[in-house]
Amino acid sequence: MRRTAPTRRPARKGQVKRSPSWDVDARVLIEVAYNMRARAYAPYSNYCVGAALLSAQGIVYGGCNVENASFGMSLCAERSAVVKAVGAGEQQFDAIAVVTEDGGTPCGACRQVLSEFGGDTTVILADTHGNYSVTTVDALLPHAFIL
Ligand SMILES: [Zn+2]
Repeated sequence: MRRTAPTRRPARKGQVKRSPSWDVDARVLIEVAYNMRARAYAPYSNYCVGAALLSAQGIVYGGCNVENASFGMSLCAERSAVVKAVGAGEQQFDAIAVVTEDGGTPCGACRQVLSEFGGDTTVILADTHGNYSVTTVDALLPHAFIL
């Protein structure tokens, strides 16, 4: 089944997009992602990642990285959250917070997966010391692959 391409809306720089029916601050998403990070299964890299994906409906879906002895089977926190949200029937997202020890950015695969659902999605990159920055999927992945 083919669906229409995601709508590309302009992102407001430095802000989590807001809908009239809900109000979520970046700090709330970071807290959820921080708590999800504690659930990460990362015995090989010890690089624990938590994510909190905010849907257009105002629901937050958490994710964490899940590693595997067959490294290629490992799943990132960001894609873990996307899979959970899509499985719940969501396909439009306003923001995702990602928490790592050092404020690392999503890998290329996650950038592409996030781009599928809108390049204007706000991306909040946080470390475990309370620092964060805000960007967008388009800024992280210019010229994303699109069919
Ligand atoms: Zn990734």
